[in-house]
Amino acid sequence: MSEQTWLGIDLGGTYIKWELVADDGTSLRSGRTPTPRTGHIAVTDAIVNIVDELGVAGLRPAAVGIAVPGHLSAARDSITILPNVPGDWVGFGVRSYIAERTGLDISLLNDARAFALAELELGAAVGASSAVFATIGTGIGGAVAVDGRIVTSDRDTFGEIGHTTAVVDGEACACGGRGCVEAYAGGSKVLERAARRGVSIGLGPAALTSLEFAARTDQAAADVLAEAYDAFAVGISTVCAFTGANLVILGGAVGAELPGYLVRSRQRLEQRRELLGGVEVRAGSLGARAGALGAARAARRSRSESKNATSHPELEHQK
Ligand SMILES: [Zn+2]
Repeated sequence: MSEQTWLGIDLGGTYIKWELVADDGTSLRSGRTPTPRTGHIAVTDAIVNIVDELGVAGLRPAAVGIAVPGHLSAARDSITILPNVPGDWVGFGVRSYIAERTGLDISLLNDARAFALAELELGAAVGASSAVFATIGTGIGGAVAVDGRIVTSDRDTFGEIGHTTAVVDGEACACGGRGCVEAYAGGSKVLERAARRGVSIGLGPAALTSLEFAARTDQAAADVLAEAYDAFAVGISTVCAFTGANLVILGGAVGAELPGYLVRSRQRLEQRRELLGGVEVRAGSLGARAGALGAARAARRSRSESKNATSHPELEHQK
């Protein structure tokens, strides 16, 4: 067997998940390991270990893609913002570090862009030329495909639907702005806003489900959820108006739990039918594996396109 394989790694705040993928996208092997909380060297060594262990098993990949919940430097070698994984990431050449230790080509990309690439090549957006992608988790991630490629930018902020404005001068957002979609629709903000209005809900993974349950009888809970869904739908419809995409793919754990995000987005887009035509909104089809699968596809794209000597081969780069 000499067919090349591609390793996709999804670096999350809780787990490092990985998928070893064949050229046609079939997953050959997968696993996960807890994300070390002791700094960037421990985290990168855990990634190197995954590669080493596959090598020992005779499964050395042709290249590795790593999806990160943050933003990358313009050179795609280091991470400029990574709020949920402890470590001194800024200025640390994580790509070169892992490449030197494994002897493999390494591609880094934002995790929402990885979700989008996976759904575009293997999932719910296969065959689409242009599409908008959003992940709803503790925050809101986003990406845009144009002409079959995920667009990115020097500051790695292209497609940040979560930081488009839903409410002028509204709630403060972690980005420094006000009224961003994420400040209303991100999972952690939804829970924070509910608590502020006196809605009593537990903490932990089931908190959003119990908030949805509370909303049946508690007006404050219902309002918080309605505002979250609407802020998200406003962001989606803005990005669709801007890009002209007629397909929206939603992902992320919170999005899967609360169908209101999808339903309200459909309603908002329908109001703009005259301008936008019919825009289809679908859930992604790859679930929690999308990040690692997308990272594997980024590695594959990088390898096949580096032969053409482009400067940022894994993704379309806009100056
Ligand atoms: Zn923001």
